[in-house]
Amino acid sequence: MFIIKKERNGKDYYYLRESIREDGKVKAKTIAYLGKTKKEAEKKAKEFKQKREEGNMEEKTEKKTIENKEITIDELANFCKRKGFVYPTAEIYGGLAGFWDFGPIGSELKKNIKDNWWKYHVHARDDIVGIDGAIITNPKVWETSGHVENFTDVAVVCKKCKNKFKVDESELKDAVCDKCGGKLESKGKFVPMFTTQVGPIEEDSSMAYLRPETAQLIFTDFKLIQDNARLKLPFGIAQIGKSFRNEIAPRNFLFRSREFEQMEIEYFINPDKKEDCPKDAQIDNFKLNIYSAEMQEKNQESEKMTIKKALSKKIIALPWHAYWLKTELSWFYELGANPENFRIRQHTKNEKSHYSTDTWDIEYKFPIGWKELQGIADRGTYDLNAHQEKSKKSMEIMDDASGKKILPMVVAEPSLGVERAFMVFMFDAYSTNEKEEVILKLNPKIAPIKAAIFPLVKKDKKLVEIAKDIYKNLRKEWNVLYDQSGSIGRRYARNDEIGTPFCITIDENSIKNKDATIRNRDNGEQKRIKISEIKDTLRKLISGEIEFKNIKN
Ligand code: ATP
Repeated sequence: MFIIKKERNGKDYYYLRESIREDGKVKAKTIAYLGKTKKEAEKKAKEFKQKREEGNMEEKTEKKTIENKEITIDELANFCKRKGFVYPTAEIYGGLAGFWDFGPIGSELKKNIKDNWWKYHVHARDDIVGIDGAIITNPKVWETSGHVENFTDVAVVCKKCKNKFKVDESELKDAVCDKCGGKLESKGKFVPMFTTQVGPIEEDSSMAYLRPETAQLIFTDFKLIQDNARLKLPFGIAQIGKSFRNEIAPRNFLFRSREFEQMEIEYFINPDKKEDCPKDAQIDNFKLNIYSAEMQEKNQESEKMTIKKALSKKIIALPWHAYWLKTELSWFYELGANPENFRIRQHTKNEKSHYSTDTWDIEYKFPIGWKELQGIADRGTYDLNAHQEKSKKSMEIMDDASGKKILPMVVAEPSLGVERAFMVFMFDAYSTNEKEEVILKLNPKIAPIKAAIFPLVKKDKKLVEIAKDIYKNLRKEWNVLYDQSGSIGRRYARNDEIGTPFCITIDENSIKNKDATIRNRDNGEQKRIKISEIKDTLRKLISGEIEFKNIKN
């Protein structure tokens, strides 16, 4: 490395340069701006060399030592608050149990999760359409669905530690405190639906519920949707939206909230063709970590097996159900979740709703143990039948294949909480390097910020101008960030922590060579690419079409 002086408009500028070998030739490249005086330049050059030596060492070790780190739910909640993912709602007034606000980074992550879910389940398929139903609807919907009568939990208090929580009525007899194992006192049944008044003048107004799930309007609007979208069986209807449950004991950060979002599908088939899962669905060799009702009753461990085996041993009743388990797990895996943290658990006889032939939950190994992430129930014709009877409006549709009018059945109802998915992606991405700095290895598709763009030196107007031009161009397509404050190492670290997968730095060489450095969050690797190719390269990196290591320098 050596210092050179350049004169511009009568003023001196000092730069640090180094000789490099490029295309078989030795060339000198400027690597840093050092200021306007010789003394300042010598000092900065010394600092730069020192930092670079440290940086090189860091980079080498960083590559080896970035590891997933297990953290508790409280640690995740603290991290989320510190970095702008999630805050307790209106914390200045002491918050409100079970309600959360998503901050600048968290609202992006949440939106990306929902957008990717929609893309995968609706836009990428011919057989599923989406709707967006009302949060408050006619209360008859909830009477007919059975929520008013049956959507009840029993509130219990531990006689020993006073822990309050809810249990399913069927489990009340055998249940003990989930904290200390103490005996429970029942406080009676409660309906976890919030109520509200519709209409401003009280005597004219009527009571209504905030929906406790998104699914029901798919059933009430079934005929219109099927007709408008010209759907032919088998087909699905999807919805994403807010749900509200007045949980007795909201806890574990977002896991059990009173206001949350659900992403749900009702998948309808002809009940006479239950076994007809399409052959091209390619489910046979997909591996599941299965925890069947029988395994639970016999106190056995879960077992990994292929869908083919699970179907042949009649552990999973219907190929359609296996198909939906595979489809939902694949969505998580494709977005970077760790398959080792997932299992599927069958509902036992006591848990299962009376109308369901088979229900499986996808469970995730949360720090509080294996817990439900997503329910995948088979609801039969229960809902369409109930709304048909109550409204006296036929819900039957013409099945072209048989030429008969039929009432379709729901073979699977994948129902996933957005907040629980949010936690899964956060837990599986949370990693640290050997300096205990957080590297959030979110898949680029869901990362809140896709790229950060920096000028190496903020005082160099030319570098700033180029960096800002790149930033303005990229933000037409993605959520990207421009940052010029602090050392380059600090800027990398800030972005690693919030999961920004790529950082693009403009330095002195960028002016002449029209190129920039692109850095990979997951191992600190850096490459130089032409500025004109940044957008296309980024698009391919985000979509997963290419890997970072395949970028040509
Ligand atoms: P749990 O047994 O955990 O209360 P559930 O069986 O009542 O859940 P479902 O009615 O099947 O849940 O709801 C479908 C999905 O909605 C759940 O798998 C979960 O991801 C999400 N969900 C349900 N209740 C809550 C809640 N209170 N907070 C956050 N997400 C929730």
